Amino acid sequence: MKTALVIGGGFAGCAAAHQLALLGGWDVTVVEALPFLGAGVKTRFYGGHPFTYGPRHFLTPMPHVFEFLNKYVPLRRCADHQFLTYVERDQQFYNYPIHKDDIDRMPDGQQVRDELGAINLAEIAKLSQAEIGKMKHDELVRLNGAKHAKDFEEFWLYCIGRTLYDKFVNDYSRKMWLIETNKQIDDFLWSPKGVSLKEGPRTAWDTAISAYPIAINGYDDYFRIATADATVLLSTMIEKYDIPRKTVVIKGEKKTFDIIVNSISPDLLFDKCHGELPYVGRELYPIVLPVEFVMPPDVYFCYYAGKERFTRIVEYKKFTLHKAPTTLVTLEVPSRQNKLYPMPFESEKAKAKKYFDMMPDGIFSVGRAGTYLYNVDIDNTIEHAMDVAAKLKS
Ligand SMILES: Cc1cc2nc3c(=O)[nH]c(=O)nc-3n(C[C@H](O)[C@H](O)[C@H](O)COP(=O)(O)OP(=O)(O)OC[C@H]3O[C@@H](n4cnc5c(N)ncnc54)[C@H](O)[C@@H]3O)c2cc1C
Repeated sequence: MKTALVIGGGFAGCAAAHQLALLGGWDVTVVEALPFLGAGVKTRFYGGHPFTYGPRHFLTPMPHVFEFLNKYVPLRRCADHQFLTYVERDQQFYNYPIHKDDIDRMPDGQQVRDELGAINLAEIAKLSQAEIGKMKHDELVRLNGAKHAKDFEEFWLYCIGRTLYDKFVNDYSRKMWLIETNKQIDDFLWSPKGVSLKEGPRTAWDTAISAYPIAINGYDDYFRIATADATVLLSTMIEKYDIPRKTVVIKGEKKTFDIIVNSISPDLLFDKCHGELPYVGRELYPIVLPVEFVMPPDVYFCYYAGKERFTRIVEYKKFTLHKAPTTLVTLEVPSRQNKLYPMPFESEKAKAKKYFDMMPDGIFSVGRAGTYLYNVDIDNTIEHAMDVAAKLKS
């Protein structure tokens, strides 16, 4: 049997162990620093209410990934759910992605419309009569300068203008990333989630699948099923890495593997020789409230786009369908206490690449920290694991 080491037992590590088990012929060891698998996706309980560390609902444009997970952890579709954003300066909740129809409810709606019109006209003015003639009316009225943007701030100013940017994006993004200015963000292809200015249905995800496990313990059964054939070392850290030789020291013992699947920050595998990769994290505050529900039926969580210290409030019963006369919400506060979100800076991605370039064949990078990419969600961790299996097969 060939040997595989999986570093990290979050969703990506578990999914990788699972794909190797499905492939067959692999003796898999999973090393996880925490005393449990799943990391932030594991279900916890507070006041009798199940919850995860942040919403962690299953969002995917990939039907095959949905079908795959659904086989092991039956999922309930939550296609009805909307994202709301509170804009304190208007004392209003609006939809997110920003919905065109909400502009009518804004006290400065005319200013917003003027700015959107000016953006559009400026782009149309750059086209020749012949180019305009070839375009459909729909395409023409949607034109903006986003493709010329050099940073996240410019991207949003080109898409939606100054007023909407200040209401929805400016403060939110700076507190989300704990940065001074959104000009620091120069890797922004992940944004926005969906479209910058939405029309039509108000549901958050009308072009992708939105779902959550039916079981009260959420995704936890998957972590068990995925690692059933593996040796799982919990509360364990690798003491020494020699990645070029696929050799590590675990509990004082030197071990060499045929392959390594890594889901932790790549700088850790090389003693941070090119410098540390930065991340931002989250503190999560669970609060039980003496009402059955606090949010409207189709609202599962709200963003707070202004100067509030928190970014999001999630009402977990909406996902879990837990029955109780009380409800549980969590407040998410950006923090440097843990490392959850790789920074969307090209310079840091270039640093991460230096580490990836040091990895020989047979070392696979999966998951959010493992690939140092913010836009890796639960579905992508499964996709990464499937890719590893496909490469091994071929
Ligand atoms: C607050 C928040 C909310 C989110 N909400 C959603 C959502 O609604 N929907 C969605 O699809 N995605 C969501 N995501 C993203 C998604 O959950 C993650 O991308 C995914 O779970 C990442 O899995 P992973 O295995 O790559 O990383 P992690 O979950 O971080 O797992 C890495 C594991 O490695 C372990 N580890 C770290 N260092 C070491 C070490 N030195 N030795 C051994 N083990 C180590 C950690 O303990 C951890 O268990 C959210 C993320 C966050 C932070």
